[in-house]
Amino acid sequence: MKIQPWNLVFLAGFILYISIRGIYGRRTKGNEKTVSRLDAQDQILMGLVGTGNVLLPVLYLFTPWLAFADYRLPVWAPWCGVIVMSVALWLFWRAHADLDRNWSITLELRKGHQLITHGVYRAIRHPMYAAILLFGLAQGLLLQNWLAGWSAAVTFAVMYIGRVRREEQMMCEFFGEKYREYMRQTGRLLPRLKLRNE
Ligand code: SAH
Repeated sequence: MKIQPWNLVFLAGFILYISIRGIYGRRTKGNEKTVSRLDAQDQILMGLVGTGNVLLPVLYLFTPWLAFADYRLPVWAPWCGVIVMSVALWLFWRAHADLDRNWSITLELRKGHQLITHGVYRAIRHPMYAAILLFGLAQGLLLQNWLAGWSAAVTFAVMYIGRVRREEQMMCEFFGEKYREYMRQTGRLLPRLKLRNE
């Protein structure tokens, strides 16, 4: 392993990130799926994200194979990475806790699926995606390798573009006016700016 302090900081955050997903993922296991829109497009997108989010950073940390892409980041960058990673982990944890047994890794709905509009879902519709994008940014600011560093942000941005409309479409079909009203009240990744007279 490349024993550099920032790599160890990244690894600690990465273990927390995987653990949050593991703990909450297990909670949804027995929860029956009633709607599934998992198709080839979503499978390809998830494979892409797995490569950028997990495979490339692991190869960078534990093998010399990606050394050709090593570079030097400015000294301030990893410090910003730590701040961004802390926010990302907090938001990732809160989004999982708020969605609880309604979470799925793909486009699915579960038996007794509830529309969550509280907690971090009160102001934005996609806090988990916001957290993953922030984690990708932190990865880029911490790992001194342009390939393993920026792979998560780039691959997840592609995934987000390919998925978000389809997810909202599915939620509208299932929850109807309730979700459309929720869309009017919230922003996707950032809170919606409300005009005074609205
Ligand atoms: N896009 C959300 C959730 C990601 S997990 C976020 O970024 O936070 C994806 C699954 O979560 C979807 O397939 C859907 O089943 C579920 N989901 C998304 N928004 C939801 C909401 N507001 N309430 C309940 N379930 C939701």
